Amino acid sequence: MSTETVLNNYINNEWCRSNASEYLDVTNPATAEVLGVVPLSPSAEVDRAAQVAADALVEWRRTPAPDRVQYLFKLKNLLEANFDDIARTITLECGKTLDESRGEMRRAIENVEVACGIPTLMQGYNLEDIATGIDEIMIRQPVGVCAAIAPFNFPGMITSWFMPYAVACGNTYIVKPSEKVPLTMQKIFQLIEETGLPQGVVNLVNGSEATVNAILDNPTIKAVSFVGSTPTARYVYSRATANGKRAQCQGGAKNPIIVLPDADAEMTQHATTESAYGCAGQRCLAASLAVTVGEAREWFTEVMTDAAETRVVGYGLEEGVEMGPVITPESRSRIEGLIQKGLDEGAKILVDGRNSQIPGYENGNFVRPTLLGDVNPSSEIAKTEIFGPVLSAIHVDTIDDAISLVNAGRYGNMACLFTSSGAAARKFRYEAEIGNIGINLGVAAPMAFFPFSGWKDSFFGDMHGQGKDAVEFFTQKKVVVERWA
Ligand code: NAD
Repeated sequence: MSTETVLNNYINNEWCRSNASEYLDVTNPATAEVLGVVPLSPSAEVDRAAQVAADALVEWRRTPAPDRVQYLFKLKNLLEANFDDIARTITLECGKTLDESRGEMRRAIENVEVACGIPTLMQGYNLEDIATGIDEIMIRQPVGVCAAIAPFNFPGMITSWFMPYAVACGNTYIVKPSEKVPLTMQKIFQLIEETGLPQGVVNLVNGSEATVNAILDNPTIKAVSFVGSTPTARYVYSRATANGKRAQCQGGAKNPIIVLPDADAEMTQHATTESAYGCAGQRCLAASLAVTVGEAREWFTEVMTDAAETRVVGYGLEEGVEMGPVITPESRSRIEGLIQKGLDEGAKILVDGRNSQIPGYENGNFVRPTLLGDVNPSSEIAKTEIFGPVLSAIHVDTIDDAISLVNAGRYGNMACLFTSSGAAARKFRYEAEIGNIGINLGVAAPMAFFPFSGWKDSFFGDMHGQGKDAVEFFTQKKVVVERWA
């Protein structure tokens, strides 16, 4: 392994070689080629990043908001100029198709754009004469040093749900990317360096569990944003809050879509296919359960069988490929094991994506689109997050049964309804106990100016990522009551 491929941390505007005693390979999931090695940084490096971020905070919070966002305007322009290069890096390390990587970067940039509005978004409010001659104002001030801990499935986008807002609000920042996909953040931090942000305002520390624990235990870090699986989200939330930090922790999902008999078959097929099999099912907004109501069962099964069988699977950098591999060989085995578990529990295999070989990419972690029918709602496959290209179909008789099934799930990240009835759509929107709702959409991903609103076991905290919630999370309110004689 040449030394150039060892990834660095970025602390106090310097690229630093970690003193880690352990490193992990970063691997292309389609080819098994090693792309680099990532350090599992020790706690001393988190502590140093926190210290320089605390030092930087003094001047940064005094920098006027309109001046702070100038760095974000520069970052937006640099991200646009390097758009294809970053998208390519996402595909290399994460496996999704180039189009999917471009879509991810578009969402990342949208968040930077929205955070550029901080001079307006961060305003407080006031009331003159709360009593005669006395005025009261609410002002927002930064929280301090904040940190993000990211998952593997969106290496370029997820940090942008938090970091641009935090920095624009006058906080300083530490990013800990997923150790499985750390290359994209190396590229983005090279652009952050080019923006000329002052020393220590934004820092990058690579690592895994021990690095996360160091973030959670460091008393200088005041707020933590986490995205990943539910067990880790719950753990991070409890340890961060036990240590007196603010925390917002987004977890896993098991997203149902309901198909009513009056739905448009073509639209439903297209949207469900993109949702269940897009990004190889490795999206927290991937449809994982399809609940058909009444006569929808027959036509839905037919169109989805066709969609699963014909989806083009291969290397995401190649033209015409519609679905890439899953992230690791362990992921592939886990997904295939869950499919078998579903069959053991009585489901029917309608399209079997196991044991896939893609010519030329025999070492890749490929699972083809899989469709299971007659899935029992109480079986494990109906409840467990698979995080792979597997759609499980369940049949019920009425929309009430379907909504009850949705509400019985432990997760609350997303649910979608396909229908041509406004009344059914309203009922669903009103009754579903879920944070993100789609009507005739397969991936109800909130835009940057709306909160990414998971519920139940999909979210631990109060304020979500993105938009006004991000401003709430990254500021603390101060109320001033004034009397001048
Ligand atoms: P993960 O929980 O394994 O890892 C997420 C982060 O936590 C990584 O940075 C990792 O280094 C760290 N980590 C892992 N185990 C840890 C531990 N025991 N202690 C401390 N830190 C630990 O998640 P993943 O596999 O990278 O990502 C996939 C998961 O993320 C899926 O469950 C998916 O649904 C979820 N996800 C949720 C959303 C959302 O918005 N709700 C978005 C994207 C992904």
